[in-house]
Amino acid sequence: MPTAMLWLRRDLRLHDLPALTAAWKAADGGRVLPVFVLDPDLLEQSDVRTHCLLSALEEAQQAYEGAIVLRRGKPAEVLPTLVQESGAQSVHISAESTPYGRRRDEQVSDALGQVPLVATGSAYAVGPGTIFNGSGEPYKVFTPFSNAWRDHGWPDPAQPPSDVRWHRQVSSEPMPGKPELVDGVELPAVGEQAALERWHDFLDGGVGEYDDERDRPDHDGTSQLSVQLKYGTIHPRTLLADLKGRRGKGVYGFATEIAWREFYADVLWHNPSSAWQDLKPQLSAMVYDDPDTDDQVAQMVQAWREGRTGYPFVDAGMRQLLAEGWMHNRVRMVTASFLCKHLHVWWPHGARHFLRHLRDGDIASNNHGWQWVAGTGTDAAPYFRIFNPTTQGQRFDPSGDYVRRYVPELRHLSGKSVHEPWKADDGYEHGYPERVVDHKEARSEALARYEQSRS
Ligand code: FAD
Repeated sequence: MPTAMLWLRRDLRLHDLPALTAAWKAADGGRVLPVFVLDPDLLEQSDVRTHCLLSALEEAQQAYEGAIVLRRGKPAEVLPTLVQESGAQSVHISAESTPYGRRRDEQVSDALGQVPLVATGSAYAVGPGTIFNGSGEPYKVFTPFSNAWRDHGWPDPAQPPSDVRWHRQVSSEPMPGKPELVDGVELPAVGEQAALERWHDFLDGGVGEYDDERDRPDHDGTSQLSVQLKYGTIHPRTLLADLKGRRGKGVYGFATEIAWREFYADVLWHNPSSAWQDLKPQLSAMVYDDPDTDDQVAQMVQAWREGRTGYPFVDAGMRQLLAEGWMHNRVRMVTASFLCKHLHVWWPHGARHFLRHLRDGDIASNNHGWQWVAGTGTDAAPYFRIFNPTTQGQRFDPSGDYVRRYVPELRHLSGKSVHEPWKADDGYEHGYPERVVDHKEARSEALARYEQSRS
């Protein structure tokens, strides 16, 4: 009886999964063997993400009626073994676009020999590497990309095959236990059902106000779907299909954010080295402080990591990251800017910390988000535009509620005054730290280094 294998990775869902449809068609009335490889390289990167991954996998296991076979090891070794055990004639995947994923899939394809590794669909509405400008070049700037992306369009969501029969003849390893999380880390449910519920709530409520609310970390104004998109428990095509026919700035703005995710994946696809190197060479002569060789810098970076910089908006964000594995986009920009432009540290040091703790940690969105802030990436914010961490807080957390939620030492300060404890007589009464750098001095230093790098 024909058997097709479905190798699940960051597409842990049953609905709108073209690779499943392709496997089912290839099996042609035979059986589909869904497989998940517990790759130690990925499992060891971040406890928060491993937790989310295993939650998503547990839910997928239920949706697949317990048929997903789990095996621990390197995919290039595990998959050929499984092909032999099951007699599968093809292995089906959603295409991967990260440098690691592409390398791994090439190795697996080689290891499978005559058995084809067939990619159908990807984690994006429009697969990275698909859209080019009129001269046949990849886009380097977001707005023209997003226009071309909208013009290109995407297929409707794929319907799950109704009569798929699972292959149940090969053994599975048990589901691993979830890693213990640092006290206080609270994670949302991650899985296809949870994703759809969150999406429908947001579609009925938040998306209309998204344009007004998306910059307010003190409000629940964004979709919080990034972790679900990360594990593919929901596909952006599903989101975009549900937005079809709806009008308004909120709907348009939300689709634009989805386009940013697609843009960064496309940029990384064309420039794999930009995962950890500056995309643009303009700041290659910039002098950075190095926490690996300078103890004083290392201490400041540690204060940044732990939310002890003395700047309330920055500290609230960094503590939210540690407490929830998530941070609001506005605060990601301000905290990242603080590391690059107030502490004069090269962006990969911060990107690595974010990737270790973010539940939605994604090499394309994270590292290009960092490069945008640092001034080395696409559409880069000009280096001389330096966020003032205090006025950013006053503007986007006008009630101060966001800071009070994450910084208990400042809860006694009311309203906006929480953003300037140095102005209150009792500002430091509960142990809140003094500022690690002076904003004006740090700003001048950043600008001086910028000028020097240009000359
Ligand atoms: P919403 O506002 O509801 O947006 C919907 C979806 O659009 C998001 O889930 C996300 O998939 C996408 N999106 C929104 N904003 C962006 C953006 N600026 N760039 C790319 N995609 C976007 N996003 C990640 O998914 N993973 C990361 O590791 C990551 N790291 C970041 C690091 C920095 C320094 C910065 C500035 C941004 C980063 N982002 C990252 C983008 C953004 O902050 C998050 O996607 C967003 O905060 C997730 O919350 P949400 O799902 O409620 O977003």
